[in-house]
Amino acid sequence: MTFKDLGIIEPILRALQAEGYTHPTPIQEQSIPILLRGKDLLGCAQTGTGKTASFAIPILQQLYLDRERNNGPRRIRALVVAPTRELAIQIADSFTAYGKHTGIRNTVIFGGVKQGAQTTALRQGVDVLVATPGRLLDLMQQGYISLRDVEFSVLDEADRMLDMGFIHDIKKIIAKLPHDRQSLFFSATMSPEIVSLSRKLLGDPEQVTVQPEQTTAERVDQGVYFVSKKMKPNLLLHLLNTENVTSALVFARTKHGSDKVVKILDKAGIESAAIHGNKSQGARQRALGNFKDGVIQVLVATDIAARGIDVDSLSHVINYELPNIPETYVHRIGRTGRAKASGIALSFCDSEERAYLRDIQKLIGQQIPVIEGHPFPDDGTQDPPASTDKSQDQRGGRRPSANGGGGGGSSRGGNRNRPSSRNRR
Ligand code: AMP
Repeated sequence: MTFKDLGIIEPILRALQAEGYTHPTPIQEQSIPILLRGKDLLGCAQTGTGKTASFAIPILQQLYLDRERNNGPRRIRALVVAPTRELAIQIADSFTAYGKHTGIRNTVIFGGVKQGAQTTALRQGVDVLVATPGRLLDLMQQGYISLRDVEFSVLDEADRMLDMGFIHDIKKIIAKLPHDRQSLFFSATMSPEIVSLSRKLLGDPEQVTVQPEQTTAERVDQGVYFVSKKMKPNLLLHLLNTENVTSALVFARTKHGSDKVVKILDKAGIESAAIHGNKSQGARQRALGNFKDGVIQVLVATDIAARGIDVDSLSHVINYELPNIPETYVHRIGRTGRAKASGIALSFCDSEERAYLRDIQKLIGQQIPVIEGHPFPDDGTQDPPASTDKSQDQRGGRRPSANGGGGGGSSRGGNRNRPSSRNRR
């Protein structure tokens, strides 16, 4: 789905392109067609979902297409009411950005500052007014603003308006709006009070509900195995044989490391290919093509080479070696769990990598669940763990006896081999 598919006109498409918007967000995809049909809308959505564009674009489009009928002096034809000055400014900036090739003019008014500049802008004429409730009423009462010609009204963040005690102001504003208009009402929550307020504003609305986008770290099931360096090959083979791995991108820190992984897999009869800087462009493309087509199950990559790899149906990211730059972890796991699919990211952490793990967890603001019960626990032959995170050290540093000496005593480790819980922030 593109903005063009949604029927957005060229002057606005150009502006969206300049903003770097390639595809509509879910709320835009749902709301824009409803609004272009002239229906009222009840939107349950938070900031961060692309909510502003979901109403600004169709309002701009309708104002633009109707411009022939409105070639007299500018009148306020769209009113957006928002609870805070910051939000109001952001909304006005969005109208400016998306409408820059339409000739549609907006201004923003809010309290806490002198009104002179605002009344000057209003006198010059605007098509779209973005306002906080108090200053709007104030300037209406002083005669600077008439809502007589409003064709589109938007109440944004209605729940916050109620929390901030604006209910009476809002009712007074609604009372001044013409009956014949398109009304939009957005709120992150839908309490009975909000629903009752929405009924005062909306005719027979269509409803759209969207959840905020989950961050990658939330969408991907993550797990970490504490394993010694020398047992990593065994653990990798074990996972590829026992987990439901349809396609795995395995990360190593170095070219040498990734070649080693390919050799290990090769010996075990698992077809894989490595992509890294020493491979020719042709070899890389072949490897990637085979991986995408499902000919090979495993692609082994270094971080640089993995840039730009876009495989939709990747089931697993395996961090055979943890990255020493925490942001790299987020990039790696973002390769799975794309397009709303949930993915699995498994990390191997040896005793020398505990500090990397700590930095990663700090960056993503969550503890990655430790997967216990696998046949190759850290056997303690390496340096003692560097982590100060006691809970993880204790769990990760278990002796092999807990599991039959690493010989697969607990065989597949049952379902504990999967990351079982999502750690939401
Ligand atoms: P909002 O929920 O309106 O506060 O928007 C959140 C952020 O998403 C803003 O920074 C917008 O500029 C951005 N945004 C809105 N729509 C899109 C889109 N279709 N593609 C990319 N970014 C967008």
